[in-house]
Formats: sequence, structure tokens, C-alpha cells
Amino acid sequence: MIDLRSDTLTKPSQIMRDMMSRAEVGDDVYGEDPTVNELEAYAAEITGKEAALFVTSGTQGNQAAVLAHTQLGQEVIMDTDAHVFIYEGAAISAFAGVQSRTLPHDRGQIAIKDLKAAIRSDDVHHPETGLIWLENTHNRGGGAVLPIEYLKEVHHFAKEVGVPVHMDGARIFNAAVASGVAVKEITQHVDTVQFCLSKGLGAPVGSILAGDQSFIHKARKKRKMLGGGLRQAGILASAGLLALRSNIDRLAEDHQNAVLLAEAINTYTDLSVNHPVETNIVIAETDQSSRTAQEWVELLAQKNVKIIQYKAESLRFTTNLDVSKKDIEKVIEVLKEIS
Ligand SMILES: *Cc1c(COP(=O)(O)O)cnc(C)c1O
Repeated sequence: MIDLRSDTLTKPSQIMRDMMSRAEVGDDVYGEDPTVNELEAYAAEITGKEAALFVTSGTQGNQAAVLAHTQLGQEVIMDTDAHVFIYEGAAISAFAGVQSRTLPHDRGQIAIKDLKAAIRSDDVHHPETGLIWLENTHNRGGGAVLPIEYLKEVHHFAKEVGVPVHMDGARIFNAAVASGVAVKEITQHVDTVQFCLSKGLGAPVGSILAGDQSFIHKARKKRKMLGGGLRQAGILASAGLLALRSNIDRLAEDHQNAVLLAEAINTYTDLSVNHPVETNIVIAETDQSSRTAQEWVELLAQKNVKIIQYKAESLRFTTNLDVSKKDIEKVIEVLKEIS
């Protein structure tokens, strides 16, 4: 089976499991887990932030960020397709008591003029703008990378109006590798960032939230409130450390595989990939196809290729650590065969 449903499906390698079994541990709620401390220090260093916090998931990292950044009744500006808006169960409203202000976007980029217009005035009727939210790479935008120039512009404007910027960087290392820059070149333009260890980087569990000391101090409390104060979490953190040390550069292979796949889809099938393939996500539209999205999913599954239906008329193929170039060549053979 070649599984292209998501990059969350990767399984820890034998080396990773061995490291986990040997990890030095302590009680992390007491701040005494040396492996968690090492991971947090390393994550702070590579994101160029003062401090970092190991969290159980990307969702928990994002929610701890909202809780630490905002006050009840504030508003968070985000794009209409943001993961935090679509896939986190309205947690920001349920837990932080803030409302989402969603704006149109082009592959994750909200026009600066729209951002400017969305900042609330001091009028007694309005909520306060508490946070600006960016997603990089942009999942529903087909793994799109936010350009550094855009980030600079948003951050410059946000500072002027005194609103912090959080980046949901679940796949920020894909963005860094695709742009050929170190991750801190990206994160210097946001106040805080969340990234996933458990997606393309191949760790079984965990995410990181990074920012300045006072923010992480607050977020640590929020994480505890969310049930994320773990005890001997070094077992998990050791996998995260290995993922960060070994699996960043190889993301380039996933990106090359995604390009090969997209070219084959456009050449051999009646599906169409209409977006530039910058990272590891390929969205194929079915509107010109003789088959529905569901039929494609079923047919490919019969041929041992797993993908997911994305929107009503689109499919998502996600390349990852457990899918080799040979596997992609096999998928391409299957596509040719069934076209
Ligand atoms: C996966 C993802 C998350 C959430 O991560 P989980 O670990 O699944 O909770 C957040 N944002 C984006 C953009 C993601 O793709």
C-alpha cells in the first residue's frame, strides 16, 4: 500500500524507536525532563526565538498560543481556509472566547489592504483586534509557501498597529526547504510560531510553540490548563530531536516527488493540478474528469494507492517520508493504467 493521504501517517523508524527507548527522562511539569529541555532549547535556537514549549499536537500549540496572546471577546484575523478555522473544532471560540474574522486569501496571502481594513477601531461597538494569524505552508492552499517579502510587510504593519502575529507553521520546514532559507529567516517576521514534529519530520507525536520568554511562560500555563502538562515526556521529545536533526533536508525529496506526481496527473489523467506545486501537497481537481472524486479515491484504493477526497471536486495527494521515489513511479504507472 502506498499511502498518500497525509504526512501525519509516517511511522517512527527503528533508529527513532531505539532513541526513544533510551531517552533520559524526568517530570516535565517540574521542568526536570532533560530531553524535553534539550528539545525546547534546540527548537528555540532554530526558530531564532527566546524560548520554546513542547506541546502534544499542532492544535494544542495553536490553542495555547491563542490563549496566551488574547483576551476574552477579542477578534483574531485569519484567512477563510485557515486550519484553525476549519479543523480545530472552533476551539478558539470555545476555549479562548475570541471570534474569528476570516478574510479572503490567495494561497494563504491575505491582501495587505484587507488586513488594514480589518483592524478594529476603538468604537464601543467593536471587538478589539487581538491577533493576526498566518499559515505557512498553507494546507488548503496546496502547500503554498508565504513569500518572505509578504511576511515582512504584514509584520511591519502589525507592529505599527500593535497587534501580534502568530504563524501556524505546522509545515514550516517545508516552507524553509522550498525557499532555500533557514527557518529563522521566516520566523523572524512573526512573533510566535507553532510547528509540527509529527508531520513531514516523521516523529510520532508532538509540536513546538516558540516565542519570547514571557509569551512561553504564559503559554506553559495555558498548556497545563489544556491538559498538556506531560510527565516523562522525554520519550516523545527524543523522537522530536531526532526528527529536527535528521529529517529537515530530506523534505526536498518529498517536494520533488510531489512535482513528479503533479506532472504525471496533468499528463496522463483527466484530473488537473492547477496550483504551483511548491512543497509536498498536490491538489487535483476532478471537475473536468469522467470520474467523481469519490470514484477516484475508491479506484486508486483498489490499486493499493491511498489518497483523500479534499473538497467536493478535488483530491489531495501528500508525499511524505514513508513514500519513496520508486513508490511515486509505481503510482504514476497506476495512473497511466487507469486513465
Ligand atoms: C496538521 C495541522 C495542524 C494541527 O496539527 P495536529 O497535530 O494535527 O493537531 C495545524 N495547522 C495546520 C496547517 C496543519 O496542517
